[in-house]
Amino acid sequence: MILRDVRVLDGTGERFEDASLRFDPGSGRVEAVGDADSRDDEPIYDLSGKTVVPGLVDAHVHFSLSGEASVADVVTTSDAELMLTEAKNARKTLESGVTGVRAMGARDLDVVLAEHVERGDVPGPRMAANCRSITITGGHGHHLGREVDGPTECRKAVREQVKRGAQFIKFMATGGVTTPGTDPNSPAFTDEEMDALVDEAHRRGVHVAAHAHGAEGVQAAVEAGVDTVEHGTFLDEATIDLLVAEDVVLVPTLSAPYHIVRNADHATDEALEKTNDVYERHLDSFAAAVEAGVEIVGGTDAGTPFNYHGANATELSFMVEYGMDPHDALVAMTGRAAEVIGLDETGVLEPGAFADFLVVEGDPLEDLGTLRDPETVVKGGEVVAGEAFGVGGVGELSE
Ligand SMILES: [Zn+2]
Repeated sequence: MILRDVRVLDGTGERFEDASLRFDPGSGRVEAVGDADSRDDEPIYDLSGKTVVPGLVDAHVHFSLSGEASVADVVTTSDAELMLTEAKNARKTLESGVTGVRAMGARDLDVVLAEHVERGDVPGPRMAANCRSITITGGHGHHLGREVDGPTECRKAVREQVKRGAQFIKFMATGGVTTPGTDPNSPAFTDEEMDALVDEAHRRGVHVAAHAHGAEGVQAAVEAGVDTVEHGTFLDEATIDLLVAEDVVLVPTLSAPYHIVRNADHATDEALEKTNDVYERHLDSFAAAVEAGVEIVGGTDAGTPFNYHGANATELSFMVEYGMDPHDALVAMTGRAAEVIGLDETGVLEPGAFADFLVVEGDPLEDLGTLRDPETVVKGGEVVAGEAFGVGGVGELSE
């Protein structure tokens, strides 16, 4: 099938005007981008005025959470019920135009969901999935995580997670906003513990994401060798320099504090107090990181209070509002995100890649809002949400 006369942003930073995209609905793969001569009997759709972009890749989501004011209810939910919630949130995410995610883990459910999405049993984005986030006893996320103390337990916990199918390791380098009694500003683990976590994960061939708000915790995590830092709320100059020097990717999750602050009337007192304190600093940290050249990858923290699944594209607007170039932001939430989280052959529109893409009206780099409401969502060459191609749908079938 060929989409013709369309603008293509390929997820690597290339832009094609009046171009063609050929994909094979059978294999689910992209065959050509730029020019494509038609073959006999091949349907061709004219999409003039529209843009094709890769499906978004969100490097930080929580399918077990649905934007509740407090995670307290989720703690007592059975695995069976929580799995249905996960499946519902995965479907919403896919239908909004997100075709790849890194799922940050809840008990051992995400890896099971990932397997069933992969098989086509339930609709959802392609997933890099984790099991339980590793945290100190009583630390951030302990309700759904794996509590550890001491380097030996750290290694054991990493081995356990990998044994159960985790495709990466996440640990909580500082306290968090949504866990009562934990301090987002203080480092949680000792250096020895963090070294053990990262060393063991890399020995097992998986990457490491560190949840970290305070500068001291970010620095400790980076020095331990983590691959991505999540949130990075209080970054100072020395920490930013270290992120650049060590080539560590920052996943800023700007959506998370925004939604708590915007819903001040309904947020829990503790979450709000912590968030008010951090929101302005978070935006300043992000802007300074962009300015200094820290590599950014898009992630929303979807599922956290009032941060609903399916609104993921809003993160791009925040990234641009606080200092990123729109095309850089798009690459950060498509091609680069996929690469960093280890999702192969998606996030880019190149021959051989999965045909995971969105059709939007106009030019999304002029108006990022179009990405929040794509006309069509295609995953693996198949329309999974929005309008079909042709009569009554998107594009005109050409003779
Ligand atoms: Zn998170």
